[in-house]
Amino acid sequence: MDNKFILMDVIDSHSHISSTPDHVLELLTEMNRLDISKACISGLGSMFNSVSNKEILEIVENFKPRFIGTYFIRPGVTNTLDIQDAYEQGFRMLKAIIPKKPYSDQSFYPLWGAAQRLGMPILFHTGLVTVSESSPKDIILSLDMHPLQIEPIANSFPDLNIILAHFGGHWNRDAAELARMRHNVYVDLTGDSEGWRSKLDEEGFEKYLWWKNAFQNVVFGTHVHPDQINQVLKEDKERYSKLNLDEQTKEMIFSGNIKGMLKLP
Ligand SMILES: [Zn+2]
Repeated sequence: MDNKFILMDVIDSHSHISSTPDHVLELLTEMNRLDISKACISGLGSMFNSVSNKEILEIVENFKPRFIGTYFIRPGVTNTLDIQDAYEQGFRMLKAIIPKKPYSDQSFYPLWGAAQRLGMPILFHTGLVTVSESSPKDIILSLDMHPLQIEPIANSFPDLNIILAHFGGHWNRDAAELARMRHNVYVDLTGDSEGWRSKLDEEGFEKYLWWKNAFQNVVFGTHVHPDQINQVLKEDKERYSKLNLDEQTKEMIFSGNIKGMLKLP
């Protein structure tokens, strides 16, 4: 391993807890082994074979201070009071996915306003989405989760910190350009190591993140099962070494950006 990474704090800003037994213990084991100090965890409910918000809160409580609770919201279902309650219960971040209408719909603005007021960053799923076989046959249109759906939200809520998950899905260029043009928009490069990441590592991430200090807009996260975290972290470290990113940028990616958003010391 690159020695330069040894002393760097690593926080996983995008982690899900599946409904598989032992997931939490497996995750903690990997975090300890790989020196990941904290993980922002969310449960996306049965549609994603994942645990509930309530279970996330119990995990956060039981394993203090290793986890930060990320509250799952479905725009069009969740209301502002739910977000207020979530904050009071201890959640510090939101994860939005499968909105009933496009993210940019005006009827959702009270949600984004509540998040800004409470200082809760929002991790927006962007790109195509797959739900479990058994989930209700809701019509899900991934275009509603296009990265540019976030543009009016970023403009209207300048103090709201926004992370575009999975680098916009296959809309990489749009996600990158929004992060370039808006001070409050970041991207994460999460996903399976054999998925879209391998394609972009071949192409070169710098093709999309091309401007000076572009990688300072990246937030580290995994989104994968604990048994894949080692591989994802290794690939990320190798990529940033290959790109000769400076120490400050790497620090921002692996913990600085998310610490700033969550006001962590
Ligand atoms: Zn995810």
